[in-house]
Amino acid sequence: MAATPTRDLEATREQLRILEGAGADLIRIAVDSSADVEALRELRLGTDALLSVDLQENYRLAAEVAPLVDKIRYNPGHLHHHQRELTVAEKVAFIVECARKGSCAIRIGVNAGSIAPEYQDRFGDDHTAAIVQCAVDHCQLLDDLGFNDYLVSIKDSDPRLVIEANTRFAEARPDVPLHLGVTEAGMPPDGIIKTRIAFEQLLARGIGDTLRVSLTVPFADKGLEITTGRELIADIENGRFRSVPPNFYDGLNIIACPSCSRVENERFIELAQDVKRVTKEHSEENLTIAVMGCRVNGPGETDDADIGLWCGPKVVNLKRGPVTVGTYGYEEITERLQAEVAAVLHQRRESRTN
Ligand code: SF4
Repeated sequence: MAATPTRDLEATREQLRILEGAGADLIRIAVDSSADVEALRELRLGTDALLSVDLQENYRLAAEVAPLVDKIRYNPGHLHHHQRELTVAEKVAFIVECARKGSCAIRIGVNAGSIAPEYQDRFGDDHTAAIVQCAVDHCQLLDDLGFNDYLVSIKDSDPRLVIEANTRFAEARPDVPLHLGVTEAGMPPDGIIKTRIAFEQLLARGIGDTLRVSLTVPFADKGLEITTGRELIADIENGRFRSVPPNFYDGLNIIACPSCSRVENERFIELAQDVKRVTKEHSEENLTIAVMGCRVNGPGETDDADIGLWCGPKVVNLKRGPVTVGTYGYEEITERLQAEVAAVLHQRRESRTN
């Protein structure tokens, strides 16, 4: 995935060059506005790479982007934001029509961090059941529309949920291709280990047709996502499995998004690295800290973490669970985070002794 702002043509062309050079088969470009579509048009002229676009909330952009790309991804959890007078089925029909006219494929991209409200109501805390059922239902919608050129992805930052959800989906719809990924896997080496855990379990069972590795690395190092993916495939093909110690999931868990063109302040990558550095002393604590790069997915995808940070252009939003603690400048956020970690751990100790 190209991580630079799409309208920065020079930087995004460089991302394409890096990703293609590393062996990417398909490259995703972020498009949030008509100005981004114009940039995409320019980029399309300059590359033969297969391109895909993630529609995010603005599903109507499908009409403009479908003729320019090979695949569009929609997230069922984002279809309720705009045009609430229309049903989800009507919006899906619109996307399908655009894909047909543009001769491109569709990925139904379900994410545990943005579950569609109707599935949240129906399944409550059982996120796995919610996302699997959502994927199955959307396949049915596309089937009913007579559209076959689609695949599904079911992602989460926890490889265990990715394994469980994709296994269940493959049982329900073995005929539908699956795109695998552990989202917000974070920085190497942990991000690579989390991805490996999921891919080893799934690919070894014959589940998965395409994949993406998401790593929080500087833009210039994005080729690492591709080379890591290829190494994982080669290892699994050759039976080189790495066992994961049973205590891998114990202790501090830092989730970080891989960054994309929606990052409005490049200090996000540095911040993710700082979070890891300043919380090292708490490596034994069962604490999840989520660091997200933008206001699009940041607020929702930090809800399940003990402490969340999501980045705006000038400030970082700090949360404890789903509750916002405050917004802080980039220069003060690590100190503020340390105080928040100390407060959470203190509160835990207090509740254990009471
Ligand atoms: S959280 Fe935002 S910046 Fe990070 S990958 Fe997702 S959309 Fe991009």
